[in-house]
Amino acid sequence: MDHFFSRDITLLTGPDKAQLLKDELGIHTYEDLLKHYPFRYEDRNNQSTVAALTPTTPGVQLQGYIKSLQKIDKGKKRLVALFEDNTGQLELIWFHNFSWIIKKIKPNVCYRVWGKPVFLPNGQKQLIHPEVVFYVENQEQKNSLVPLYHSTEKLKRNHLDTKGIAYFQKKLLSQLNTVIEETLPDYLLARYQLISLKGALHNIHFPSDPAALKQAQRRLKFEELFYLQLKLFKVRGVRVEKQTGKVFNNVSLLHTFYHNHLPFHLTNGQKEAIREIYRDLSSGKQMNRLLQGDVGSGKTIVAFLAMLVVIASKAQVAIMAPTEILAKQHLERFHIFAQQLNLNIALLTGSTKKKEREHVLYRLKVGLLHIIVGTHALLSDEVVFHELGFFIIDEQHRFGVAQRAGLLTKNQVYAPHILIMTATPIPRTLAMTFYGDLDLSTIYELPAGRQPIKTHHYYENARLKVFQFVREQLLLGRQVYIVYPLIEASAALDYSNLMAGYESVSRAFPNVPIGIIHGKMDSAAKDMEMKRFEKNETHILVTTTVIEVGVNVPNATIMLIESAERFGLSQLHQLRGRVGRGSAQSYCILMTDYRLNKAGKERMETMVKTNNGFEIAELDLKLRGPGDLMGLQQSGVLNLKIADLSKDTATLEVARKLAKHIIQQDPPLQHPANLPICKEYARLLAAAGEWNKIG
Ligand code: ADP
Ligand code: MG
Repeated sequence: MDHFFSRDITLLTGPDKAQLLKDELGIHTYEDLLKHYPFRYEDRNNQSTVAALTPTTPGVQLQGYIKSLQKIDKGKKRLVALFEDNTGQLELIWFHNFSWIIKKIKPNVCYRVWGKPVFLPNGQKQLIHPEVVFYVENQEQKNSLVPLYHSTEKLKRNHLDTKGIAYFQKKLLSQLNTVIEETLPDYLLARYQLISLKGALHNIHFPSDPAALKQAQRRLKFEELFYLQLKLFKVRGVRVEKQTGKVFNNVSLLHTFYHNHLPFHLTNGQKEAIREIYRDLSSGKQMNRLLQGDVGSGKTIVAFLAMLVVIASKAQVAIMAPTEILAKQHLERFHIFAQQLNLNIALLTGSTKKKEREHVLYRLKVGLLHIIVGTHALLSDEVVFHELGFFIIDEQHRFGVAQRAGLLTKNQVYAPHILIMTATPIPRTLAMTFYGDLDLSTIYELPAGRQPIKTHHYYENARLKVFQFVREQLLLGRQVYIVYPLIEASAALDYSNLMAGYESVSRAFPNVPIGIIHGKMDSAAKDMEMKRFEKNETHILVTTTVIEVGVNVPNATIMLIESAERFGLSQLHQLRGRVGRGSAQSYCILMTDYRLNKAGKERMETMVKTNNGFEIAELDLKLRGPGDLMGLQQSGVLNLKIADLSKDTATLEVARKLAKHIIQQDPPLQHPANLPICKEYARLLAAAGEWNKIG
């Protein structure tokens, strides 16, 4: 089907320019060009004077007279005009295409000129290649907001600078009126007071005034976010109706534990999270909830208290961790609690020995086990529950809908409740976008009395000082993590990198017991090393990011991160969260190369400046963009042209609710009123062909 949007740009620009636009800006179709929105607008109503110009003045508009015109043939051929307003004079200069200017310009006529001022060393001011507009008093100046488009050097050399692009936009827009169909139904335009697509496209490129521009932006952002949400709901599925779930409302065990065994006072955030979870468990609908809270915010105890509600009704609970180390730590912490309540708990991982495994599986199946802790091994078919009531997934916020659906088969009678926990705080906008089908609980605060971790950034020249500091902490009886980055391209290189690090650490701290954990070790060996560190048998642990999530050694007070520039912000923050778990002051030391790019520098500064995971997540979103943050970089899912997930929160919220509602009411999009949505959705699918990659 020939759709105006999908026409090849060649039809508009001719083959040479089309090729350039394709190569340089990825503009292949009419739609690509129309959605190559201006990045900024020059406000030409904003008039200045010659005297007021400074070297930092951006594009400026002046009003005055041209006193003289001089064609200079010597050296670089140019046309120089002397321009004067009632505050001073400056030169207007053209280097080419000036014969028409000579014809056009007359003395004693008032002109508006527009351009970017240049200051010569002698103080002389110039405008190079200004635009000159014949000025008539009181005539309303149309298009006072002039669009500026991103372009490239190569494009600029070929007349596709911002003006050249504007020219083609105009040409395209003039054809628009007859051919373009509205992409949102009338009832939505009316309900949200949105302007038409045609109007929006005209005004986004050539706004008649700032208010019209706002309207255009609002409409286009809404549309973009609406279709993004619609696609995500379509592809990932929306719980049209929340599934019925088993009612768990027996709080007897929870009360017993709360009043007799709870080792500390809960924070308000923890209490609220437990209330929200309890509300779900007792609601009769299946829970699908994401619990997010910064490292150390105390999600584990929240999970445990919630488990007790389920266990009190004789159903079983599973908790799955991403690594064996973490699973074991959970087991140990829960084991202490479980003993106090006479509950049976066991561990199941990929390396659980056959005999032990059979024993665990048997007890699970007949209902002797109340709690099972494990890794992905828990998902395997041989794991059969007597009655699985509650499945908790720790530190895996990317556990998707399909994977969750797999869990449901673990109980043939009813859908178990699901809680996903993450210490990777996700900005609210992203959470809404990607976990639209999850309810969200957030713990914002940390337990009281924690000393904030002090973070410092050093270059290699401070190495001696840093090592001296490490030595002092070791003398105080503290322990230290030293982390090396993973270089993904080569596992072997990684390993040698880490080994070289290990050797230099050994040389620097000759009498200190040092452990090492890396990806090539089998889990028994990793485990042993972790144990040794936990028991304070080793004082330094050299490692890769294996220890990233969840590990808890309160006596460790230094997190030294080598080549810190190679880590993302969220990852650095995760690593930092490994210290600061005891009462002593903890430190995070970031070592980097001298050559830091701007983003790298910004990451280090952010880490030094703030300990707040939510702030860091928001910044990470701004620095890296949502695609990268969510591991969706390549998928094109987040190829947003105008909306900004880190800013347009309110619009996103409205668009999301609407998309969900529409999919719920009219899943195949066949209601006559939704015809425009149906058409546009089909068009976007065909145009992108990318959507099947997610989910
Ligand atoms: P995370 O949210 O990162 O999983 P944890 O559940 O591992 O955090 O808790 C971190 C540490 O804080 C643990 O040692 C835990 O016992 C302790 N803790 C949790 N909640 C509180 C609280 N309300 N007061 C004091 N300490 C707490
Ligand atoms: Mg945790």
